[in-house]
Amino acid sequence: MTDATSKHVTHWINGKSFDGGEAGRRGEIFEPSTGRVNGTVDFVGPAEVDAAVAAAKAAFPAWRDASLTRRSKVLFRFRELVDAHAGELARLISSEHGKVVSDAAGEVARGLEVVEFACGIPHLLKGGFSENVSSRVDAYSILQPLGVAAGITPFNFPAMVPMWMFPVAIACGNTFVLKPSEKDPSASVRLAELWSEAGLPDGVFNVVHGDKVAVDGLLHHEDVKAVSFVGSTPIARYIYETAARNGKRVQALGGAKNHMVVLPDADLDLAADAAVSAGFGSAGERCMAISVVVAVDPVGDELIDKVRERVARLKVGPGDNPESEMGPLVTRAHRDKVASYLDSGVAQGAVLAVDGRETPVLGGPGDGFWLGPTVLDRVTPDMDAYRDEIFGPVLSVVRAASYEDAMKIIDANPYGNGTAIFTNDGGAARRFQNEVEVGMVGINVPIPVPMAYYSFGGWKASLFGDSHAHGMEGVHFYTRTKAITARWLDPSHGGVNLGFPTNG
Ligand code: NAD
Repeated sequence: MTDATSKHVTHWINGKSFDGGEAGRRGEIFEPSTGRVNGTVDFVGPAEVDAAVAAAKAAFPAWRDASLTRRSKVLFRFRELVDAHAGELARLISSEHGKVVSDAAGEVARGLEVVEFACGIPHLLKGGFSENVSSRVDAYSILQPLGVAAGITPFNFPAMVPMWMFPVAIACGNTFVLKPSEKDPSASVRLAELWSEAGLPDGVFNVVHGDKVAVDGLLHHEDVKAVSFVGSTPIARYIYETAARNGKRVQALGGAKNHMVVLPDADLDLAADAAVSAGFGSAGERCMAISVVVAVDPVGDELIDKVRERVARLKVGPGDNPESEMGPLVTRAHRDKVASYLDSGVAQGAVLAVDGRETPVLGGPGDGFWLGPTVLDRVTPDMDAYRDEIFGPVLSVVRAASYEDAMKIIDANPYGNGTAIFTNDGGAARRFQNEVEVGMVGINVPIPVPMAYYSFGGWKASLFGDSHAHGMEGVHFYTRTKAITARWLDPSHGGVNLGFPTNG
Protein backbone atom coordinates (compact mmCIF):
# COMPACT_ATOMS: atom_id res chain seq x y z
CA MET A 1 0.00 0.00 0.00
CA THR A 2 2.99 2.34 0.09
CA ASP A 3 3.58 2.57 -3.66
CA ALA A 4 2.22 6.01 -4.43
CA THR A 5 1.57 5.28 -8.09
CA SER A 6 -0.46 2.11 -7.72
CA LYS A 7 -1.35 1.70 -4.11
CA HIS A 8 -3.90 -0.81 -3.02
CA VAL A 9 -5.51 -0.28 0.37
CA THR A 10 -7.17 -3.13 2.15
CA HIS A 11 -8.71 -3.98 5.51
CA TRP A 12 -6.94 -4.54 8.83
CA ILE A 13 -8.45 -7.36 10.81
CA ASN A 14 -7.02 -9.20 13.82
CA GLY A 15 -3.65 -7.47 13.65
CA LYS A 16 -2.90 -7.91 9.97
CA SER A 17 -3.88 -6.94 6.44
CA PHE A 18 -7.00 -8.74 5.33
CA ASP A 19 -6.79 -8.82 1.58
CA GLY A 20 -9.60 -8.47 -0.87
CA GLY A 21 -13.28 -8.54 -0.38
CA GLU A 22 -15.69 -11.36 -0.93
CA ALA A 23 -17.88 -8.85 -2.70
CA GLY A 24 -14.99 -8.11 -5.11
CA ARG A 25 -15.89 -4.43 -5.04
CA ARG A 26 -13.33 -1.64 -4.97
CA GLY A 27 -13.27 2.13 -4.92
CA GLU A 28 -10.81 4.49 -6.59
CA ILE A 29 -8.53 6.77 -4.60
CA PHE A 30 -7.85 10.10 -6.30
CA GLU A 31 -5.03 12.58 -6.03
CA PRO A 32 -7.16 15.76 -5.93
CA SER A 33 -4.42 18.13 -7.11
CA THR A 34 -3.95 16.26 -10.42
CA GLY A 35 -7.28 14.48 -10.73
CA ARG A 36 -5.40 11.19 -11.27
CA VAL A 37 -6.46 7.86 -9.81
CA ASN A 38 -3.70 6.99 -7.38
CA GLY A 39 -4.84 3.60 -6.17
CA THR A 40 -7.76 1.45 -5.16
CA VAL A 41 -9.43 0.48 -1.92
CA ASP A 42 -11.22 -2.81 -1.26
CA PHE A 43 -14.82 -2.61 -0.13
CA VAL A 44 -16.06 -5.13 2.43
CA GLY A 45 -19.04 -7.38 2.03
CA PRO A 46 -21.02 -8.82 4.96
CA ALA A 47 -18.50 -11.68 5.46
CA GLU A 48 -15.58 -9.28 6.11
CA VAL A 49 -17.69 -7.19 8.47
CA ASP A 50 -18.45 -10.41 10.36
CA ALA A 51 -14.75 -11.31 10.43
CA ALA A 52 -13.79 -7.90 11.82
CA VAL A 53 -16.49 -7.90 14.48
CA ALA A 54 -15.64 -11.52 15.40
CA ALA A 55 -11.96 -10.58 15.82
CA ALA A 56 -12.93 -7.61 17.99
CA LYS A 57 -15.32 -9.75 20.04
CA ALA A 58 -12.69 -12.45 20.57
CA ALA A 59 -10.12 -9.87 21.70
CA PHE A 60 -12.51 -8.20 24.15
CA PRO A 61 -12.33 -10.46 27.26
CA ALA A 62 -8.54 -10.28 27.57
CA TRP A 63 -8.35 -6.55 26.75
CA ARG A 64 -11.17 -5.76 29.18
CA ASP A 65 -9.14 -7.52 31.87
CA ALA A 66 -5.80 -5.94 30.92
CA SER A 67 -4.61 -3.81 33.83
CA LEU A 68 -4.95 -0.05 33.58
CA THR A 69 -1.16 0.19 33.76
CA ARG A 70 -0.77 -2.10 30.77
CA ARG A 71 -3.41 -0.23 28.76
CA SER A 72 -1.86 3.16 29.47
CA LYS A 73 1.61 1.84 28.57
CA VAL A 74 0.32 0.77 25.13
CA LEU A 75 -1.31 4.20 24.73
CA PHE A 76 1.93 5.99 25.64
CA ARG A 77 3.84 3.90 23.08
CA PHE A 78 1.16 4.60 20.44
CA ARG A 79 1.43 8.31 21.22
CA GLU A 80 5.19 8.25 20.65
CA LEU A 81 4.85 6.31 17.39
CA VAL A 82 2.16 8.60 15.94
CA ASP A 83 4.26 11.59 16.91
CA ALA A 84 7.35 10.07 15.26
CA HIS A 85 5.37 9.34 12.08
CA ALA A 86 3.36 12.59 12.05
CA GLY A 87 5.10 13.92 8.93
CA GLU A 88 4.54 10.71 7.00
CA LEU A 89 0.86 10.63 8.06
CA ALA A 90 0.41 14.27 7.05
CA ARG A 91 1.83 13.63 3.57
CA LEU A 92 -0.40 10.56 3.16
CA ILE A 93 -3.48 12.55 4.17
CA SER A 94 -2.58 15.46 1.91
CA SER A 95 -2.11 13.18 -1.12
CA GLU A 96 -5.62 11.70 -0.82
CA HIS A 97 -7.58 14.58 0.70
CA GLY A 98 -5.89 17.53 -1.01
CA LYS A 99 -5.36 19.72 2.08
CA VAL A 100 -1.90 21.25 2.45
CA VAL A 101 0.65 19.17 4.36
CA SER A 102 0.98 21.70 7.22
CA ASP A 103 -2.79 21.57 7.75
CA ALA A 104 -2.74 17.75 7.69
CA ALA A 105 0.03 17.88 10.32
CA GLY A 106 -2.31 20.06 12.39
CA GLU A 107 -5.02 17.42 12.31
CA VAL A 108 -2.57 14.71 13.40
CA ALA A 109 -1.49 16.95 16.30
CA ARG A 110 -5.10 17.55 17.39
CA GLY A 111 -5.81 13.81 17.18
CA LEU A 112 -2.72 13.12 19.28
CA GLU A 113 -4.15 15.34 22.02
CA VAL A 114 -6.96 12.80 22.44
CA VAL A 115 -4.40 9.97 22.69
CA GLU A 116 -2.63 12.01 25.39
CA PHE A 117 -5.94 12.49 27.21
CA ALA A 118 -6.56 8.73 27.00
CA CYS A 119 -3.09 8.01 28.44
CA GLY A 120 -4.57 9.22 31.73
CA ILE A 121 -7.15 6.43 31.73
CA PRO A 122 -6.32 5.14 35.25
CA HIS A 123 -7.48 8.49 36.58
CA LEU A 124 -10.43 8.84 34.18
CA LEU A 125 -11.95 5.47 35.12
CA LYS A 126 -12.12 6.11 38.84
CA GLY A 127 -15.55 5.42 40.25
CA GLY A 128 -17.10 6.71 43.47
CA PHE A 129 -17.04 5.16 46.94
CA SER A 130 -19.24 5.92 49.94
CA GLU A 131 -18.48 4.24 53.20
CA ASN A 132 -21.26 3.42 55.70
CA VAL A 133 -24.28 4.28 53.56
CA SER A 134 -26.08 2.12 56.09
CA SER A 135 -24.71 0.34 59.12
CA ARG A 136 -21.58 -1.43 57.90
CA VAL A 137 -22.77 -1.10 54.31
CA ASP A 138 -20.61 0.52 51.62
CA ALA A 139 -21.71 1.72 48.16
CA TYR A 140 -19.49 2.24 45.15
CA SER A 141 -19.58 2.51 41.39
CA ILE A 142 -17.35 1.10 38.67
CA LEU A 143 -17.09 2.01 34.99
CA GLN A 144 -16.95 -0.99 32.67
CA PRO A 145 -16.39 -1.22 28.91
CA LEU A 146 -19.24 -2.11 26.57
CA GLY A 147 -17.60 -4.63 24.21
CA VAL A 148 -17.17 -4.01 20.48
CA ALA A 149 -17.54 -0.36 19.48
CA ALA A 150 -17.72 0.84 15.87
CA GLY A 151 -16.61 4.17 14.41
CA ILE A 152 -17.78 5.54 11.04
CA THR A 153 -15.90 8.63 9.93
CA PRO A 154 -15.90 11.33 7.21
CA PHE A 155 -13.34 12.23 4.55
CA ASN A 156 -12.39 15.64 5.86
CA PHE A 157 -10.27 14.56 8.86
CA PRO A 158 -9.08 11.03 8.05
CA ALA A 159 -6.79 10.89 11.12
CA MET A 160 -8.21 13.34 13.66
CA VAL A 161 -11.86 12.30 13.67
CA PRO A 162 -11.12 8.57 14.11
CA MET A 163 -8.73 9.66 16.89
CA TRP A 164 -11.63 11.44 18.62
CA MET A 165 -13.06 7.97 19.09
CA PHE A 166 -10.75 4.98 19.27
CA PRO A 167 -8.12 6.12 21.81
CA VAL A 168 -10.85 6.68 24.40
CA ALA A 169 -12.83 3.55 23.46
CA ILE A 170 -9.73 1.34 23.62
CA ALA A 171 -8.39 2.94 26.80
CA CYS A 172 -11.74 2.19 28.46
CA GLY A 173 -11.26 -1.53 27.63
CA ASN A 174 -13.41 -1.82 24.50
CA THR A 175 -12.35 -3.25 21.17
CA PHE A 176 -12.96 -1.27 18.01
CA VAL A 177 -13.92 -1.58 14.34
CA LEU A 178 -13.30 1.58 12.29
CA LYS A 179 -15.01 2.25 8.94
CA PRO A 180 -13.17 5.30 7.61
CA SER A 181 -14.15 7.33 4.56
CA GLU A 182 -13.51 5.43 1.35
CA LYS A 183 -12.17 8.67 -0.20
CA ASP A 184 -8.98 8.81 1.89
CA PRO A 185 -8.59 5.43 3.57
CA SER A 186 -4.79 5.07 3.96
CA ALA A 187 -4.22 6.99 7.20
CA SER A 188 -6.43 4.62 9.19
CA VAL A 189 -4.46 1.58 8.03
CA ARG A 190 -1.17 3.29 8.93
CA LEU A 191 -2.60 4.04 12.39
CA ALA A 192 -3.56 0.36 12.73
CA GLU A 193 0.02 -0.66 11.93
CA LEU A 194 1.29 1.76 14.57
CA TRP A 195 -1.11 0.30 17.15
CA SER A 196 0.36 -3.14 16.47
CA GLU A 197 3.88 -1.79 16.83
CA ALA A 198 2.83 -0.20 20.11
CA GLY A 199 1.88 -3.63 21.46
CA LEU A 200 -1.91 -3.49 21.18
CA PRO A 201 -3.12 -7.10 21.09
CA ASP A 202 -4.46 -8.38 17.76
CA GLY A 203 -8.16 -7.80 17.24
CA VAL A 204 -8.48 -4.82 19.59
CA PHE A 205 -8.36 -2.36 16.66
CA ASN A 206 -9.67 -3.29 13.22
CA VAL A 207 -10.35 -1.33 10.04
CA VAL A 208 -12.89 -2.19 7.35
CA HIS A 209 -13.22 -0.12 4.20
CA GLY A 210 -16.28 0.43 2.10
CA ASP A 211 -19.57 2.18 1.64
CA LYS A 212 -23.15 1.72 2.84
CA VAL A 213 -22.75 -2.08 2.80
CA ALA A 214 -19.98 -1.83 5.41
CA VAL A 215 -21.90 0.70 7.49
CA ASP A 216 -25.14 -1.28 7.42
CA GLY A 217 -23.24 -4.44 8.34
CA LEU A 218 -22.02 -2.72 11.51
CA LEU A 219 -25.35 -1.07 12.33
CA HIS A 220 -27.19 -4.41 12.18
CA HIS A 221 -24.52 -6.59 13.81
CA GLU A 222 -25.70 -7.90 17.16
CA ASP A 223 -22.16 -7.95 18.58
CA VAL A 224 -21.60 -4.22 17.99
CA LYS A 225 -22.61 -2.49 21.21
CA ALA A 226 -21.90 1.17 20.43
CA VAL A 227 -21.64 3.27 17.28
CA SER A 228 -19.87 6.63 16.95
CA PHE A 229 -20.47 8.49 13.70
CA VAL A 230 -19.21 11.76 12.25
CA GLY A 231 -20.38 12.96 8.84
CA SER A 232 -23.22 14.78 7.12
CA THR A 233 -26.58 15.39 8.79
CA PRO A 234 -28.78 13.12 6.63
CA ILE A 235 -26.44 10.16 7.22
CA ALA A 236 -26.04 11.04 10.91
CA ARG A 237 -29.80 10.93 11.32
CA TYR A 238 -29.96 7.56 9.53
CA ILE A 239 -27.13 6.14 11.69
CA TYR A 240 -28.75 7.38 14.88
CA GLU A 241 -32.18 5.97 14.06
CA THR A 242 -30.92 2.64 12.73
CA ALA A 243 -28.36 1.96 15.46
CA ALA A 244 -30.78 3.00 18.21
CA ARG A 245 -33.51 0.78 16.75
CA ASN A 246 -31.02 -2.08 16.91
CA GLY A 247 -30.44 -1.45 20.60
CA LYS A 248 -27.02 0.16 20.35
CA ARG A 249 -25.62 3.13 22.17
CA VAL A 250 -25.07 5.81 19.51
CA GLN A 251 -23.60 9.27 19.06
CA ALA A 252 -23.91 10.74 15.55
CA LEU A 253 -22.29 14.09 14.79
CA GLY A 254 -23.65 15.79 11.68
CA GLY A 255 -23.07 18.76 9.40
CA ALA A 256 -22.70 22.42 10.12
CA LYS A 257 -23.27 26.00 9.04
CA ASN A 258 -21.09 28.07 11.33
CA HIS A 259 -21.82 31.78 11.74
CA MET A 260 -19.29 34.40 12.77
CA VAL A 261 -20.90 37.55 14.11
CA VAL A 262 -18.90 40.76 13.74
CA LEU A 263 -20.17 43.57 15.98
CA PRO A 264 -19.52 47.24 15.12
CA ASP A 265 -16.94 47.62 17.89
CA ALA A 266 -14.82 44.66 16.74
CA ASP A 267 -11.23 44.96 15.57
CA LEU A 268 -11.98 44.59 11.86
CA ASP A 269 -8.44 43.55 10.90
CA LEU A 270 -8.58 40.72 13.42
CA ALA A 271 -12.08 39.79 12.23
CA ALA A 272 -11.04 39.80 8.56
CA ASP A 273 -7.96 37.64 9.32
CA ALA A 274 -10.19 35.23 11.24
CA ALA A 275 -12.90 35.05 8.58
CA VAL A 276 -10.38 34.30 5.83
CA SER A 277 -8.44 31.74 7.91
CA ALA A 278 -11.54 29.95 9.14
CA GLY A 279 -13.41 30.21 5.85
CA PHE A 280 -10.71 28.93 3.51
CA GLY A 281 -8.40 26.72 5.61
CA SER A 282 -8.63 23.17 4.24
CA ALA A 283 -10.66 24.69 1.36
CA GLY A 284 -13.61 25.11 3.73
CA GLU A 285 -13.88 21.33 4.15
CA ARG A 286 -14.00 21.55 7.94
CA CYS A 287 -17.08 21.02 10.06
CA MET A 288 -15.91 24.01 12.13
CA ALA A 289 -15.17 26.21 9.11
CA ILE A 290 -16.80 29.63 9.19
CA SER A 291 -19.20 29.58 6.26
CA VAL A 292 -21.30 32.66 7.13
CA VAL A 293 -20.07 36.02 8.34
CA VAL A 294 -22.88 38.02 9.94
CA ALA A 295 -21.77 41.63 9.63
CA VAL A 296 -23.72 43.87 11.98
CA ASP A 297 -24.38 47.35 10.54
CA PRO A 298 -22.44 49.40 9.70
CA VAL A 299 -19.30 47.19 9.37
CA GLY A 300 -20.29 45.22 6.22
CA ASP A 301 -18.60 47.24 3.47
CA GLU A 302 -15.35 47.86 5.34
CA LEU A 303 -15.14 44.22 6.41
CA ILE A 304 -15.73 42.97 2.86
CA ASP A 305 -12.91 45.21 1.60
CA LYS A 306 -10.52 43.82 4.19
CA VAL A 307 -11.57 40.23 3.40
CA ARG A 308 -11.12 40.83 -0.32
CA GLU A 309 -7.58 42.22 0.19
CA ARG A 310 -6.56 39.14 2.17
CA VAL A 311 -8.16 36.66 -0.22
CA ALA A 312 -6.25 38.22 -3.12
CA ARG A 313 -2.99 37.28 -1.40
CA LEU A 314 -3.88 33.62 -0.72
CA LYS A 315 -1.83 31.05 -2.59
CA VAL A 316 -3.77 28.10 -3.95
CA GLY A 317 -1.82 25.04 -5.06
CA PRO A 318 -0.98 21.36 -4.49
CA GLY A 319 -0.87 20.27 -0.85
CA ASP A 320 2.77 19.15 -1.08
CA ASN A 321 3.97 22.55 -2.37
CA PRO A 322 5.21 24.37 0.77
CA GLU A 323 4.03 27.68 -0.73
CA SER A 324 0.39 26.55 -1.00
CA GLU A 325 -2.00 27.80 1.64
CA MET A 326 -5.10 26.12 0.23
CA GLY A 327 -5.39 22.92 -1.79
CA PRO A 328 -8.04 21.46 -4.10
CA LEU A 329 -11.39 19.93 -3.16
CA VAL A 330 -11.69 16.24 -2.47
CA THR A 331 -13.43 15.02 -5.66
CA ARG A 332 -14.52 16.44 -8.98
CA ALA A 333 -18.19 15.90 -8.13
CA HIS A 334 -17.81 17.79 -4.87
CA ARG A 335 -15.89 20.61 -6.57
CA ASP A 336 -18.65 20.99 -9.18
CA LYS A 337 -21.40 20.96 -6.57
CA VAL A 338 -19.62 23.64 -4.52
CA ALA A 339 -19.08 25.76 -7.67
CA SER A 340 -22.79 25.52 -8.52
CA TYR A 341 -23.57 27.72 -5.49
CA LEU A 342 -21.76 30.61 -7.16
CA ASP A 343 -24.31 30.60 -9.99
CA SER A 344 -27.32 29.92 -7.80
CA GLY A 345 -26.20 32.59 -5.33
CA VAL A 346 -25.94 35.24 -8.04
CA ALA A 347 -29.23 34.11 -9.64
CA GLN A 348 -30.94 34.48 -6.27
CA GLY A 349 -29.57 38.01 -5.68
CA ALA A 350 -26.18 37.63 -3.95
CA VAL A 351 -23.14 39.65 -5.05
CA LEU A 352 -20.05 37.70 -6.12
CA ALA A 353 -17.39 39.75 -4.32
CA VAL A 354 -14.58 37.27 -5.12
CA ASP A 355 -14.95 34.59 -7.83
CA GLY A 356 -12.82 31.54 -6.97
CA ARG A 357 -13.17 30.12 -10.47
CA GLU A 358 -10.66 32.75 -11.58
CA THR A 359 -8.03 32.04 -8.91
CA PRO A 360 -4.62 31.03 -10.34
CA VAL A 361 -3.22 27.69 -9.20
CA LEU A 362 0.49 27.27 -8.40
CA GLY A 363 1.96 25.06 -11.12
CA GLY A 364 -1.26 25.28 -13.18
CA PRO A 365 -4.63 23.61 -12.56
CA GLY A 366 -4.22 20.56 -14.82
CA ASP A 367 -7.16 18.23 -14.20
CA GLY A 368 -7.21 18.87 -10.44
CA PHE A 369 -10.37 19.59 -8.47
CA TRP A 370 -9.74 23.31 -8.05
CA LEU A 371 -11.94 26.08 -6.83
CA GLY A 372 -10.34 29.16 -5.29
CA PRO A 373 -11.61 31.15 -2.31
CA THR A 374 -14.97 32.71 -3.10
CA VAL A 375 -16.87 35.45 -1.28
CA LEU A 376 -20.62 35.85 -1.77
CA ASP A 377 -21.90 39.12 -0.32
CA ARG A 378 -25.47 40.18 0.49
CA VAL A 379 -26.57 36.60 1.03
CA THR A 380 -29.99 36.18 2.64
CA PRO A 381 -31.37 33.17 4.56
CA ASP A 382 -33.75 32.17 1.76
CA MET A 383 -30.91 31.48 -0.74
CA ASP A 384 -29.61 27.95 -1.44
CA ALA A 385 -26.07 29.16 -0.71
CA TYR A 386 -27.24 29.96 2.82
CA ARG A 387 -29.60 27.05 3.42
CA ASP A 388 -27.27 24.22 2.32
CA GLU A 389 -24.04 23.14 3.92
CA ILE A 390 -21.71 23.93 0.98
CA PHE A 391 -18.57 22.43 2.58
CA GLY A 392 -16.15 24.26 0.31
CA PRO A 393 -14.26 27.56 -0.04
CA VAL A 394 -17.34 29.78 -0.24
CA LEU A 395 -17.74 32.45 2.43
CA SER A 396 -21.19 33.99 2.57
CA VAL A 397 -21.69 37.44 4.09
CA VAL A 398 -25.09 38.22 5.57
CA ARG A 399 -25.85 41.76 6.69
CA ALA A 400 -27.68 42.23 10.01
CA ALA A 401 -29.15 45.42 11.43
CA SER A 402 -28.33 44.67 15.08
CA TYR A 403 -27.05 42.08 17.57
CA GLU A 404 -30.64 40.89 18.04
CA ASP A 405 -31.06 40.52 14.29
CA ALA A 406 -27.82 38.49 14.08
CA MET A 407 -28.98 36.23 16.91
CA LYS A 408 -32.34 35.63 15.19
CA ILE A 409 -30.50 34.49 12.04
CA ILE A 410 -28.35 31.99 13.97
CA ASP A 411 -31.32 30.72 15.99
CA ALA A 412 -33.37 30.07 12.87
CA ASN A 413 -30.62 27.97 11.29
CA PRO A 414 -31.15 24.23 11.75
CA TYR A 415 -27.46 23.55 12.49
CA GLY A 416 -25.73 24.31 15.78
CA ASN A 417 -22.16 23.04 15.55
CA GLY A 418 -19.88 26.05 16.08
CA THR A 419 -20.16 29.82 16.11
CA ALA A 420 -18.04 32.85 16.95
CA ILE A 421 -18.48 36.45 17.94
CA PHE A 422 -15.96 39.22 17.28
CA THR A 423 -16.30 42.18 19.60
CA ASN A 424 -14.42 44.22 22.21
CA ASP A 425 -17.53 44.39 24.41
CA GLY A 426 -17.29 41.80 27.20
CA GLY A 427 -20.96 42.20 28.04
CA ALA A 428 -22.04 41.46 24.46
CA ALA A 429 -19.75 38.43 24.32
CA ARG A 430 -21.09 37.13 27.61
CA ARG A 431 -24.67 37.60 26.46
CA PHE A 432 -23.86 35.75 23.23
CA GLN A 433 -22.30 32.76 25.00
CA ASN A 434 -25.33 32.58 27.26
CA GLU A 435 -28.02 32.89 24.60
CA VAL A 436 -26.76 31.18 21.46
CA GLU A 437 -28.16 27.70 20.67
CA VAL A 438 -24.86 26.26 19.44
CA GLY A 439 -22.60 23.62 21.01
CA MET A 440 -19.18 25.27 20.57
CA VAL A 441 -18.65 29.02 20.87
CA GLY A 442 -15.62 31.19 20.10
CA ILE A 443 -15.11 34.69 21.48
CA ASN A 444 -12.66 36.43 19.13
CA VAL A 445 -11.64 32.85 18.21
CA PRO A 446 -13.03 31.69 14.86
CA ILE A 447 -12.60 27.89 15.11
CA PRO A 448 -13.36 27.00 18.73
CA VAL A 449 -12.48 23.29 18.59
CA PRO A 450 -12.42 22.16 22.23
CA MET A 451 -9.28 20.67 23.73
CA ALA A 452 -9.26 16.89 24.14
CA TYR A 453 -10.12 17.11 27.85
CA TYR A 454 -13.33 18.98 26.99
CA SER A 455 -15.83 17.38 24.61
CA PHE A 456 -16.54 18.11 20.94
CA GLY A 457 -20.10 18.29 19.68
CA GLY A 458 -22.80 20.51 18.30
CA TRP A 459 -26.47 21.07 19.06
CA LYS A 460 -29.63 20.81 16.95
CA ALA A 461 -29.11 19.06 13.56
CA SER A 462 -25.36 18.88 14.17
CA LEU A 463 -25.61 16.03 16.69
CA PHE A 464 -28.00 13.15 17.26
CA GLY A 465 -27.64 11.47 20.63
CA ASP A 466 -26.64 12.92 23.95
CA SER A 467 -22.87 12.39 24.17
CA HIS A 468 -20.27 14.59 22.58
CA ALA A 469 -16.90 13.18 21.47
CA HIS A 470 -13.80 12.73 23.69
CA GLY A 471 -13.26 14.35 27.09
CA MET A 472 -15.32 12.92 29.95
CA GLU A 473 -18.37 12.57 27.68
CA GLY A 474 -16.28 10.20 25.57
CA VAL A 475 -15.35 8.16 28.65
CA HIS A 476 -19.01 7.95 29.65
CA PHE A 477 -20.07 7.01 26.11
CA TYR A 478 -17.67 4.06 26.01
CA THR A 479 -18.43 2.74 29.52
CA ARG A 480 -21.42 1.74 31.58
CA THR A 481 -21.68 2.27 35.25
CA LYS A 482 -22.34 -0.45 37.78
CA ALA A 483 -23.44 0.57 41.27
CA ILE A 484 -22.54 -1.88 44.02
CA THR A 485 -23.86 -2.08 47.55
CA ALA A 486 -21.79 -4.33 49.81
CA ARG A 487 -22.08 -5.61 53.33
CA TRP A 488 -19.51 -7.88 54.88
CA LEU A 489 -21.54 -9.68 57.46
CA ASP A 490 -20.80 -9.53 61.10
CA PRO A 491 -21.15 -13.09 62.43
CA SER A 492 -23.95 -11.99 64.81
CA HIS A 493 -25.87 -10.13 62.07
CA GLY A 494 -28.77 -11.62 60.16
CA GLY A 495 -32.52 -12.12 60.07
CA VAL A 496 -35.15 -12.02 57.36
CA ASN A 497 -36.65 -8.61 56.55
CA LEU A 498 -39.18 -8.24 53.67
CA GLY A 499 -39.24 -4.44 53.85
CA PHE A 500 -37.69 -2.28 51.12
CA PRO A 501 -34.05 -1.53 51.97
CA THR A 502 -33.72 1.79 53.79
CA ASN A 503 -30.65 3.25 55.37
CA GLY A 504 -30.25 3.27 59.08
P1 NAD B 1 -20.75 11.56 4.65
O1 NAD B 1 -21.92 11.67 5.57
O2 NAD B 1 -20.99 11.49 3.19
O3 NAD B 1 -19.91 10.24 5.01
C1 NAD B 1 -19.52 9.95 6.33
C2 NAD B 1 -19.37 8.43 6.47
O4 NAD B 1 -20.63 7.80 6.21
C3 NAD B 1 -18.37 7.82 5.49
O5 NAD B 1 -17.63 6.82 6.15
C4 NAD B 1 -19.26 7.25 4.39
O6 NAD B 1 -18.70 6.12 3.78
C5 NAD B 1 -20.52 6.86 5.16
N1 NAD B 1 -21.73 6.96 4.32
C6 NAD B 1 -21.94 7.80 3.28
N2 NAD B 1 -23.17 7.61 2.76
C7 NAD B 1 -23.75 6.61 3.48
C8 NAD B 1 -25.03 5.97 3.43
N3 NAD B 1 -25.96 6.31 2.53
N4 NAD B 1 -25.29 5.02 4.34
C9 NAD B 1 -24.36 4.68 5.27
N5 NAD B 1 -23.15 5.25 5.36
C10 NAD B 1 -22.84 6.21 4.48
O7 NAD B 1 -19.77 12.76 5.02
P2 NAD B 1 -18.43 13.20 4.27
O8 NAD B 1 -18.78 13.82 2.96
O9 NAD B 1 -17.42 12.10 4.30
O10 NAD B 1 -17.90 14.32 5.29
C11 NAD B 1 -18.35 15.65 5.27
C12 NAD B 1 -19.48 15.88 6.24
O11 NAD B 1 -19.07 15.52 7.56
C13 NAD B 1 -19.91 17.33 6.32
O12 NAD B 1 -21.30 17.38 6.39
C14 NAD B 1 -19.28 17.81 7.64
O13 NAD B 1 -19.93 18.90 8.24
C15 NAD B 1 -19.41 16.59 8.44
N6 NAD B 1 -18.49 16.60 9.58
C16 NAD B 1 -19.00 16.84 10.81
C17 NAD B 1 -18.17 16.90 11.90
C18 NAD B 1 -18.72 17.16 13.27
O14 NAD B 1 -17.98 17.04 14.22
N7 NAD B 1 -19.98 17.50 13.45
C19 NAD B 1 -16.80 16.69 11.74
C20 NAD B 1 -16.30 16.43 10.46
C21 NAD B 1 -17.16 16.38 9.38
